[in-house]
Formats: sequence, structure tokens, C-alpha cells
Amino acid sequence: MLEIKNLSAEIDGKQILDGLTLSVADGEVAAIMGPNGSGKSTLSYILAGKSDYTVTGGEILLDGESLLDVPVEERAARGVFLAFQYPLEIPGVATMTFLKAALNAQRKARGEAELTTPEFIKRVNGAADALKIPREMLRRAFNVGFSGGEKKRMEILQMALLQPSLAVLDETDSGLDIDALKIVADGVNGLRSPKRSFIVITHYQRLLDHIVPDSVHVLSKGRIVKSGGKELALELEANGYRDYQEAA
Ligand code: ADP
Ligand code: MG
Ligand code: MG
Repeated sequence: MLEIKNLSAEIDGKQILDGLTLSVADGEVAAIMGPNGSGKSTLSYILAGKSDYTVTGGEILLDGESLLDVPVEERAARGVFLAFQYPLEIPGVATMTFLKAALNAQRKARGEAELTTPEFIKRVNGAADALKIPREMLRRAFNVGFSGGEKKRMEILQMALLQPSLAVLDETDSGLDIDALKIVADGVNGLRSPKRSFIVITHYQRLLDHIVPDSVHVLSKGRIVKSGGKELALELEANGYRDYQEAA
């Protein structure tokens, strides 16, 4: 499980997170909502280990072990997966090659043997077929020229291959049409498991019609100011964030 305790963080001397406390159990899907600029992306970057942020207080425990001490390149091996709002494009690197490198880096960091090419191809084709990703796409440069929906499918494919224990989706729904939204939701729902925790960050309720969260948390001015069940998201949709803007 994930335990974030009293986490404070700053960037370029500006305090962004201010005593954020949040627990996400194994198997739980926690939604984080909140106004623009409240620190949602900052939290996801800190979980992923992005170095621009300075943690000034508090701790993050993943299955009882401090995550903040784990270097960024080892976080995937520890089971952390971050899906970005704007997925990376890598010209000149075939999707297949990128996925193989990501999976083998994770295996190496875990002290596991690299997958042989036939083993990898079997695995990636199986995962791609399950997500209805045409195999032809795996030969194209990673994300280059992919539509919004195709990039989302690719992200779910990465998640399916890496089998994270903590998956963080940061506004992965913004700008998506309803079909792409459903791809993300079906992908996440298909990967829900008693051992996996999700943090779904979203500004709108819409995604949560398809990924029904176990808990909803409002982030305002760098801390969680309210937590509840899935009905809290509906309340936010109806009333907006005005009740929480001043609360922190
Ligand atoms: P959210 O994802 O909730 O919209 P962010 O985590 O992206 O919020 O940003 C939180 C706050 O941090 C915002 O006020 C933003 O302007 C500020 N911020 C982000 N990067 C920097 C930076 N490099 N220097 C100063 N402030 C920053
Ligand atoms: Mg933002
Ligand atoms: Mg953001």
C-alpha cells in the first residue's frame, strides 16, 4: 500500500505541497481532484521521482519502504508507473524496441534475467491483442503521429507489460474524446487487481463515470482538504471547487 505522510515540497523556492497526507490501500482506486495549480501534477512527479522538486518534509512509504530514497530510474522496478498528460514521442525508436527496453530495465533492476526476443514478442503481442492494438503499430516510432486515443492505448499497453503495484494517471483524460476515454477506463478497469493501487488525477468527473473510484480526495493548495467516496466527485461536479479554494 501507499502511505503519504505530511508531505511538503517546493520547486524553485516556491512551496507547492503543504503537509499532504493520503493512504491508498492495495487494490484501491483513489481519485484526486482539485482546482488548477493545487499541486496534483507535482504529487505525481514526486511519486515518479522527478528531480526538479525538493521534498522539504514528510515521507512516502510504498509497502512500508521509503520511496523518496529510491532513485528515479529504479522506481519502475519498485512498481511505480506514471501515465503522463502529454505522452512522450520518441522519433526513430520503434514502439516494440521502446517497450522491450522498458520491460528489461525493470527486470534488470529487480535482478531478473532479460526476456529473450521471442519471449518478449509473445508477451507484447498478447497484451496488444487484448487491447486491440494492431501489431503494425508496434513497428512504428513510439507515439510519433499517434492519435490521442492511440497514445492512450499505448500507455495502457505499457502498464499491462510493467504490471505496476502503483499506477498514477495524471489528467490522462484531458482532451480525449469519449472513445479514447473509454479506452483508458477499460484499460484501467482491466488492470484493477487486489494487489494494485491506482491514483487517478482528474479535473472532471467524466472519467470517474467509467473508472468508479473507491475513494475521492480534494487537493487544494498542496494538501488534501476533503476525502470521501465516489459521491464526492458528483458533488464537486455540481458545486465546483469554490468550497475548497479558501479551505486550505
Ligand atoms: P495542478 O496539476 O494541480 O494543476 P501543478 O502541480 O502543476 O498543479 O502546479 C502547482 C503549482 O506549482 C502551480 O501554482 C504552478 O504554477 C507551480 N509551479 C509549477 N512549476 C513551477 C516552477 N518551476 N516554479 C514555480 N512554480 C511552479
Ligand atoms: Mg495543471
Ligand atoms: Mg496538473
